[in-house]
Amino acid sequence: MAKPAVFLDRDGVLNQEAGYLHQIEDLHLIPGAAQAVRLLNDHHLFCCLVSNQSGPARGYYSLDHVEALHERLQQLLETEANATLDAVYYCPYLSPQAGGTNPKFTAWSAWRKPNTGMLITAAWRYDLGLKASFVIGDKATDIDLAHNAGAKGILVQTGYGKAVSQGDYQHHTIPDYTAKHLLDAVHWILQNHL
Ligand SMILES: [Mg+2]
Repeated sequence: MAKPAVFLDRDGVLNQEAGYLHQIEDLHLIPGAAQAVRLLNDHHLFCCLVSNQSGPARGYYSLDHVEALHERLQQLLETEANATLDAVYYCPYLSPQAGGTNPKFTAWSAWRKPNTGMLITAAWRYDLGLKASFVIGDKATDIDLAHNAGAKGILVQTGYGKAVSQGDYQHHTIPDYTAKHLLDAVHWILQNHL
C-alpha cells in the first residue's frame, strides 16, 4: 500500500516569509512549526518539503546557498523539537518569461509549482499515494498543486496566506481546509484523516 504523505511549502509555512533569503541567519522558524513536523514524525507520516526556489535562476545566489538554507532549516527543526523532514525537494528553475536570467536555471520546469513534478518524483522514490496526501502552503499555487496532484490542499494564514484568503494576492482558491498555522494544519490532518 502506498503511504500518504504531507508535503510542506517552506517560506511562510515552516519559516517566516522574508523575501529572498540572502543570509542564512535570516531564516527563522514560525512558532509551532518544529512541533508540527515532530507530530508528523511521531505519527510516521512522511514529511516532504516541496519549494519553488527561483533565486538561482534570477541570479540572486547559488544552488549551494539554497542547500545551506535547507541544512540550517533541518538544524533548527532538530534543535527545537527533534523534528526531521524526511525528504527535501526544491525547484531552482524559472522560465525566461517569469524572470529567469541565469542560463543554467532558466527553463520551464515540470517541477515548478503548481506543476506536480516534485510530488510525482517523491511518490515514485518513496512509494507515496498522492490521493491520500496533503499539501500545506501559504499561496494559491500550493492549493493548485494539491489539486493538480489529486491531493488535499491546506492554506495556512501565515506568510501570504491571509492575503490569499482576502483575495489580495495571486488568485481565488478553494482550500480543503484553512489553518491558522502549520501546527493547526497538522492537527486537522491527524484528527480528520488517520
Ligand atoms: Mg510559501
